[in-house]
Amino acid sequence: MSRNEIVSEHESVNRMYQLVSELGITNIADRYRTQEKGRCPYCMKGLSCQLCSMGPCRIGNGKEYGACGIDAAGMVVRNFVHLNMLGTEAYTYHAIEAAKTLKATGEGKSPFEIKEPEKLRWFADQLGIEGDSTEALAVKVAEFIISDLSSHEPSKLVLTFAPKKRKELWQKLGLIPDGVFQELLNPEKWGS
Ligand code: SF4
Repeated sequence: MSRNEIVSEHESVNRMYQLVSELGITNIADRYRTQEKGRCPYCMKGLSCQLCSMGPCRIGNGKEYGACGIDAAGMVVRNFVHLNMLGTEAYTYHAIEAAKTLKATGEGKSPFEIKEPEKLRWFADQLGIEGDSTEALAVKVAEFIISDLSSHEPSKLVLTFAPKKRKELWQKLGLIPDGVFQELLNPEKWGS
């Protein structure tokens, strides 16, 4: 990949890609490209499964079902949902723990300190959050994040930080998400 190549719809990701490339640091875009050369065609289509000890199973070339009886469509959807929800869940818990730590830091209840308040202020500005002191702002930002992750309304974090092109597409498809905990845990959302 050339250093000026666009690797994301998000401009900040492209800037970071350029920077780490110039510094010769390994990065996700280049690693992804390298991995593409040797990928298994079954895995690429979602037709490979290792969820239980009866596997691994692959569907295709005369094998219509996994050992458990799942067919191709079921395996593809299960892989897609399982793998993507797993990642989303894991990072959501990271996010909420980071927000709780930020709140505790603002309240003076953690061993940490806010070393770059200008970054916090930039983040708060994007969300329209104001606060007199750095500590007060940290608490407000943390509370906002915790609330937004559980919101029944379209996520303000997504609406603020997702790339414009993506938001337009999601809007068109009716896919703007509510708070991520609603998307993950509220069964009413799954059929919509
Ligand atoms: S396809 Fe079914 S039997 Fe095969 S590994 Fe996956 S869950 Fe197990």
